[in-house]
Amino acid sequence: MPEATSGNEVLLLMGPPGAGKGTQAQRLADTRNLLKLSTGDILREHVRRQTELGRQAQAFMDAGELVPDDLIIGMVREELAGLKDVRVLLDGFPRTPVQAAQLDMLLLEVGAEITAAVALEVEADELIRRLLQRSGEEGRSDDTEETIRKRMEVYASQTKPLLDYYEQRAKLHRITGSGSVSEVHERVRKVLP
Ligand code: AMP
Repeated sequence: MPEATSGNEVLLLMGPPGAGKGTQAQRLADTRNLLKLSTGDILREHVRRQTELGRQAQAFMDAGELVPDDLIIGMVREELAGLKDVRVLLDGFPRTPVQAAQLDMLLLEVGAEITAAVALEVEADELIRRLLQRSGEEGRSDDTEETIRKRMEVYASQTKPLLDYYEQRAKLHRITGSGSVSEVHERVRKVLP
C-alpha cells in the first residue's frame, strides 16, 4: 500500500538522547510528507537568535535539564497553529506527563489525534558512545560527559514513563535503534500504519 501523504497524521518519535531521533525524524518526515517539529532544534534556534524564549531556555538546556512545560507547550502550540492539514512528526516532544496531556488537548482542538508513537531503543553504552562522538563532530554545548549523564537521568525519570502512557493507548511501537540509519528506518516504516 502506498504511504499516506494527505489527511491528518501525527507521529511521535521518542527515545533517550543519542538514540537517533533526529536522523530518523528527518527521514520519516521526508518519506511521509510530514512537517518535522523538533523541540530541541526549535529551542536551539531561539537560543541562537537570543529571543526571550531562548534566553529563558538556555540555562536549562546547558544543564541537561528540561525546559519548563509551559514554555515548551506555548512553543508547540504556536508551531501547530494555522496548519491546514495536521501532518507532523514530533521529535523530542512530549517529554513529561504534563506535556503528553497538553498535546492530547492541543490535538483535540485542531481535530487531530496521535497516529503512532515510535520509541527507539538502544543500549546505554552505545548511547554514550554515540553522544560523545557527536560532541566532537557537532560541538553541541550540551554534549559534554556530565550533561549527557544528566540528560540520561532526566530521560529515565521523566520521559521513559510516557512510553507506558502510549502503550496503554495502543499507540506505541518499540524499535531497536542499533544498526545503520537505513536499517532502523526500515524497521520504523514496517510498524507504521
Ligand atoms: P534534544 O535536542 O531533543 O536532545 O533537546 C535538547 C535540550 O532541549 C534538552 O536537553 C532540553 O533541555 C530541551 N528540550 C527539548 N525538547 C524539550 C521538551 N519537550 N521539554 C523540555 N525540554 C526540552
